[in-house]
Amino acid sequence: MEKIAVFPGSFDPFTLGHKAIITRAIPMFDKIYIVVGINSQKDGFFPVEKRLKWIEKVFKNEKKVYVDSFTGLTIEYCRNIGAKYILRGLRTSADFEYERTIAQLNRYMAPELESVFLLTDPELTPITSTIVREIIRYGGDTSKFLPEEIDLTEN
Ligand code: ADP
Repeated sequence: MEKIAVFPGSFDPFTLGHKAIITRAIPMFDKIYIVVGINSQKDGFFPVEKRLKWIEKVFKNEKKVYVDSFTGLTIEYCRNIGAKYILRGLRTSADFEYERTIAQLNRYMAPELESVFLLTDPELTPITSTIVREIIRYGGDTSKFLPEEIDLTEN
């Protein structure tokens, strides 16, 4: 059976930290779906279409990687596409506490799914989408934190 993983997140925007997790996970799975969660309650910083386009650009030569968006529960998305693994990255102990709650709740709701965590590379630990957005707000240079394929200024 194909090993299919879903990497859900806001990816607002997709950073080098996200990319590293996917790159390391590629040998572990047959297919990885990077899925941008759409929050009906609040707009993101970048439009979902742009976020999707950027991620597609980063992985355009990677046949195992698929890019999609969704609203609703991650477990439902996984069930719909036949994925058995939820992939997440861990940076800090704060991430761990947050991820632990979600992963344990997901297991209550969907015991057939496993959450798989990869620890971030040390040099990528401080990179967060929130910090990148903050730097953009104040006109700083974010290129060090983003995959080279992503140009935030393009239309
Ligand atoms: P969410 O809004 O669900 O937290 P994010 O887009 O912020 O989504 O992150 C998606 C996933 O990527 C999460 O598992 C998060 O921990 C992980 N992640 C974010 N930044 C990094 C990083 N620098 N290194 C490793 N994993 C990361």
